[in-house]
Amino acid sequence: MSKHAMHSCPDCGMEFGSAWAVTNHQRTCPVRQSHELRSIQENLEWKRGRIERWLHESYASAARAFAAYHNGHIEEARRLHQWVAEDFESTIAELTALSEGVAQAGSSHYPRLAKLRGDVKLHLEQAQDLRLILETLQRDYGQGA
Ligand SMILES: [Zn+2]
Repeated sequence: MSKHAMHSCPDCGMEFGSAWAVTNHQRTCPVRQSHELRSIQENLEWKRGRIERWLHESYASAARAFAAYHNGHIEEARRLHQWVAEDFESTIAELTALSEGVAQAGSSHYPRLAKLRGDVKLHLEQAQDLRLILETLQRDYGQGA
């Protein structure tokens, strides 16, 4: 680590110039001291992680479905297409709930929560793109079932 490396509080994400300053801060860190705040934050992060994995897998499956349809591997294409379509609406509902949860937790301005808010905003945009991709699959190749 360089001497300019930042040290951040693992609980709230605030950054400090030294490990000592972090230790000093932690005595009064509101997130560290509030079990409730910490568990809300961890719960939201856990949900976000699941949605992020689903988005990655869905993008990959949609791309592979297009390729498989294009190359005449219809059975494989349908399987991939269906996989994306199957959980789409329920995961979008989870993402919407997550977004609301993050907004409710958002009266605080800690960096860790701000990062979570930014990530969720990005996932909402990615989900919108994925919806367009899925709609294109449905339009060109049917419902995938
Ligand atoms: Zn802190």
